[in-house]
Amino acid sequence: MANMNSLRKKLLSHIDSLKKEIIAASQYIHANPETGGEEYKSSKRLMDDLSSHGFQVTAPVGGMKTAFKARLKGKGKGPRIAFLAEYDALGSLGHACGHNFIGAASTFAGIAYESIIRELKGEILVIGTPGEENLGGKIILLKRGVFKDVDASLMTHPGNETRIEPKPLASQPLEFEFRGKPAHAAAAPWKGVNALDALIQLFISVDQMRKQQHYTVRTPGIITFGGERPNVVPERAVGQFSCRGADYEELKDVVFRIKRSAKAAALSTGTTVTWRNLGPGYKDLKACPVLAALFEKNWKSVGGILEPGMEEGKGSLDIGDISYEMPCLHPFIAIAPQNVGNHTMQFTECAIGKRAEKQLVLSVNALALTALDVLVNPGLLKQMKKDIEQ
Ligand SMILES: [Zn+2]
Repeated sequence: MANMNSLRKKLLSHIDSLKKEIIAASQYIHANPETGGEEYKSSKRLMDDLSSHGFQVTAPVGGMKTAFKARLKGKGKGPRIAFLAEYDALGSLGHACGHNFIGAASTFAGIAYESIIRELKGEILVIGTPGEENLGGKIILLKRGVFKDVDASLMTHPGNETRIEPKPLASQPLEFEFRGKPAHAAAAPWKGVNALDALIQLFISVDQMRKQQHYTVRTPGIITFGGERPNVVPERAVGQFSCRGADYEELKDVVFRIKRSAKAAALSTGTTVTWRNLGPGYKDLKACPVLAALFEKNWKSVGGILEPGMEEGKGSLDIGDISYEMPCLHPFIAIAPQNVGNHTMQFTECAIGKRAEKQLVLSVNALALTALDVLVNPGLLKQMKKDIEQ
């Protein structure tokens, strides 16, 4: 344990010496907001930081132009811990989800290890995961094998509360297209088959489903095409729904019910219906109690506090799919007041500045220390894997 104490001390004092660099990286990404898949400047900045601190950087990876994988090897075989860096912004809102914070926190939690890696068995990785908001970058990288040599994945996400174990929803966006037959809507409406009627029936069915649906289910929808002019029976109608559930099982059930309703609407109106997934679905986040407990201990040990929020509904995260494959950590860290939500202009302002900087440095500390606990006690990995298999 004497050794553990000295490792902790070295790690923390090294992070202290990196403070300016950590904050500068976060500010740079914030000042150069790039949307998912286009994060050239942001990913380059983090890769430059990593290679100048001794990491071996491979890029691009998984066929994604702005994805990278950086590694720092220890003195032998042991746990392989990855810090996941996000850096995509939200168009004109800039860094309204604070992914500049994530990029800097994960990158420097890795870089902290240049001070002690020679004393440890195992490996530290930093994986640059683009397009969290629009592409589900982690899901693509997972499918393409980028995570196959990783034992656990860690990151922190800024928000308006500090909550170690958030419960994001599983989600799947869907599009439905009904096809009917056009006709003059005044002169010969009986010759037409109305695709818009079918779509409206689907909306009514989805609204009726809500009465018997669990409160964690979400099924908001919009009509993106409902015909061109009122004097023509619409031959085509298109609607989109964002289906969400507390977990993947619940989501599958919701998707099944909506598709069944769409078939029924087509049958009763004499139309045909097709559907497609609009982008990848995100799984819910499987909890890893061991990692969560370690992070909480470390977060408190460096002076962090827990600030639970108002327990409002949450969005969905692309780390969900990773959590079905390996232990994951994804705490939210408060950088904004409780009434300022992610994806707003006010949040963009909170994503830099004094409070964000303080929480960023604390996050680097707590992330690095949590990885250290696992590297020093590889037996913890087995326990973590058992937990997520349950
Ligand atoms: Zn986000």
